[in-house]
Amino acid sequence: MDKFDVLRKYFGYSSFRKGQEEMVDCLLSGRDALGIMPTGAGKSICYQVPAIMFGGVTIVVSPLISLMKDQVNALVQQGVKAAYINSSLTDTQYDKVLKNAALGIYKIIYVAPERLESVSFINLCRRIKISMVAVDESHCVSQWGQDFRPSYLNINKFISMLPNRPIIGAFTATATDEVKKDIINILQLEDPAVVTTGFDRPNLFFSVLRPAKKDNRLIELIKERRDKSGIIYCSTRKKVESVCDLLIKNGFPATRYHAVLSDKERVKNQDDFVYDRKLVMVATNAFGMGIDKSNVSYVIHYNMPKNIESYYQETGRAGRDGQEADCILLYGAGDVQTCQYFIENTEPNPQLTPEQNEMFKKREEERLKHMIFYCRTSDYLRNYMLRYFGDEAEENCGKCSNCLTKFETVDVTIEAQKILSCIIRTGQKFGATIISDVLRGKTNDRITSFGLDRQSTFGIMKDSKPTEIRYIIEKLEEQGYIISVGAGKPILRVTEMSYPVLKGKAKVNIKKTRKFKSHIERVNIDETNSELFDALKVVRTYFAMKRGVPAYIIFSDATLADMCKVMPVTPKEFLEVKGVSSIKLEKYGEAFMRVIKEYGKSDNDEKSKKYDVAEMRANGLTGAYEPWSEKEVEKLRFEYEVGIPIEKIAKNHGRTKGAIRSRLKKEGLIEE
Ligand code: ADP
Repeated sequence: MDKFDVLRKYFGYSSFRKGQEEMVDCLLSGRDALGIMPTGAGKSICYQVPAIMFGGVTIVVSPLISLMKDQVNALVQQGVKAAYINSSLTDTQYDKVLKNAALGIYKIIYVAPERLESVSFINLCRRIKISMVAVDESHCVSQWGQDFRPSYLNINKFISMLPNRPIIGAFTATATDEVKKDIINILQLEDPAVVTTGFDRPNLFFSVLRPAKKDNRLIELIKERRDKSGIIYCSTRKKVESVCDLLIKNGFPATRYHAVLSDKERVKNQDDFVYDRKLVMVATNAFGMGIDKSNVSYVIHYNMPKNIESYYQETGRAGRDGQEADCILLYGAGDVQTCQYFIENTEPNPQLTPEQNEMFKKREEERLKHMIFYCRTSDYLRNYMLRYFGDEAEENCGKCSNCLTKFETVDVTIEAQKILSCIIRTGQKFGATIISDVLRGKTNDRITSFGLDRQSTFGIMKDSKPTEIRYIIEKLEEQGYIISVGAGKPILRVTEMSYPVLKGKAKVNIKKTRKFKSHIERVNIDETNSELFDALKVVRTYFAMKRGVPAYIIFSDATLADMCKVMPVTPKEFLEVKGVSSIKLEKYGEAFMRVIKEYGKSDNDEKSKKYDVAEMRANGLTGAYEPWSEKEVEKLRFEYEVGIPIEKIAKNHGRTKGAIRSRLKKEGLIEE
């Protein structure tokens, strides 16, 4: 079998995505490789295809337990012998995996990095042939990365203990040059091929909103996406609780995830989300690494994250099935302070020197600045991010809120002069809130105690709204006339650039929103086939429940959508659907094609009558979609021949009357 046969047979894809083939070829030729690809690009295929083709076992090092369980579940469903080893296994389960591994049963074993120190595991690996070690989330080796994990430093020691050095493949979605170098050096990759696919995720739509009331806006956004699955990220545990309560109170099927919940509840809530029992997950950033739920169709940030790296990683959890998905950030001025507070109060990393810790903090402050600019910019959002990661970007991406916003350029020189002179007159000692209060002529204890009400700039913008003043301040900062200094509650200072403005020698223009053409919900599924899509989902749910796996592991939404397009009724056609492998054809083809056939037969007006999803639901979870075994057919013939009524036969088999009739027809027992 060549790599294409493997891709087709086990994964049901007819072509490799960008970067995948290069990675696969490289690993198959025995060369180490580092793949830098954004979340959702399809890194797993890069090591799973060679792993299936290699003679020995591939060890996949992966940081999160949930990832392993899902990946292994998916592989087993696809007919690949795989297992995982982590702390969630009982001793008996662990022994069984070790025993099977020693017998050469598995092609792929996922392990948590901590396991690489375990004597029993090392002993096993010294006895069996390890062809490749694939290091997922490999940026975790770097102290400069976002997610440094000391246990990743064990990987190298582990490899050096093996009798033969395996091929090493490393994978990550975020890598600055520093992190890239760290990965290569720390994992000691030998002359690795570095494959970078670029960071763009064309199916993600980015928006930044500045709602006056975040709660109300959030409810509206979720209402528009009522039957879709999504994640809402909040910056604190408390916010997760209150937002989750708010959604439940408004009738949305939401659950929550943060570090303070018990392990049991966390696992339950995560499973509820992954298995589509709850459509909305409200979580802190503790949630999501390694969650491969393909049908997440939106990621909303209730608060601004602390840097672009985190933001891109978190939004990357949307649209993994390639369907259009939304990434919406609800920005509020308070978010900046929360992030600054987090940076200020981060415990120093004991594995770094005080100087390194200080430098790390400085970098965090720098990263935060870029994040703030992202929220405030009137440039194209996708391009802003791509450039941040060092990618080329086209001018107008057409898929972000700024592309759809009509801006007009406004001359704000007079307002700028007032703001800048107020900052100077008050001694460059205050933040945006006080400056805005002084300009509007507001009196409160702080203003009077500092004597700011006696300043000449007091009340010179009394007719302006605070939001307008704030907006201009932000734009002045973005354009470099002002800088904010200090963490916590930063103060505003003017820069050299301000003086020509104050002297009337330079003008200040800003872009102001005139019209925001709201981003209209995109319909992914062909409208006319939405009933079929629903019906196919019922069949999928049946198999998912029966096998105890999340629905998308049977078929992703994208695959079902393609089924609606292709409308396959023969095995050959079924294989043409994206995401259908020959193994899945064998397991599920008959059931899905039966539904498609029934649907295709009925004419347009009758579709909804003939194809009653409610009835399917009522009968559907009983076994109606299982392929007929020879034994069952034999039983059916017998029951029919002895004259048992069809209704009773249907009950005996847990199938619908229609299904019994069509089988009887197929057996030639009743007329067409
Ligand atoms: P990553 O690890 O890069 O975040 P995954 O390996 O989980 O991404 O893949 C993301 C999604 O893309 C999965 O649902 C996967 O099945 C799908 N996928 C991967 N490779 C292909 C391909 N060649 N054709 C179509 N879909 C693919």
